Amino acid sequence: MSGKVNIAEAPPGIEGPGFFATTLDAVVGLGRKNSIWPLPFATSCCGIEFMSTMSSHYDLARFGSERLSFTPRQSDLLMVMGTIAKKMGPVLRQVYEQMAEPKWVIAVGACASSGGIFDTYSVLQGIDKIIPVDVYVPGCPPRPEQIIDGVMRIQDLIGNESLRRRNSQEYKDLMDKYMIK
Ligand code: SF4
Repeated sequence: MSGKVNIAEAPPGIEGPGFFATTLDAVVGLGRKNSIWPLPFATSCCGIEFMSTMSSHYDLARFGSERLSFTPRQSDLLMVMGTIAKKMGPVLRQVYEQMAEPKWVIAVGACASSGGIFDTYSVLQGIDKIIPVDVYVPGCPPRPEQIIDGVMRIQDLIGNESLRRRNSQEYKDLMDKYMIK
């Protein structure tokens, strides 16, 4: 790593001597996107790549995400990594439901995204069959750089999300589709 310090970019706004004005959405988005608390739901090999992503060489702390949360109520990003057996489906869904809004989901790797090579009766053919997914990371397994790229795509979504989105009809329709209250 270069040792360069990453500083969050200011959102677009109006600047003048001694003042800077922007929208509430942009300020909240800036704070949220640089302090994501991920919940790693790792069941198999992709989880090992995530361990590497967290460790010193790749260091997810550079993105403000070093605070992993193993309790759904204190996390806002569900990272699903590994093969999800159909029997595990209800557990994953319960974890998702216990997370407070606003929350986001990344499907890391082929298994979480689509069942991967396990096209079989016992494996869920993608977690989006049971919970909504915001970003898919391809690969079997994806390299840590790809996982970081997935987190950066989530940061883009979070930074640009309207504060009203979770109350919108579109979002309610999405939750209705998954029968999530
Ligand atoms: S996508 Fe590949 S590496 Fe990841 S959990 Fe599935 S089989 Fe393992």
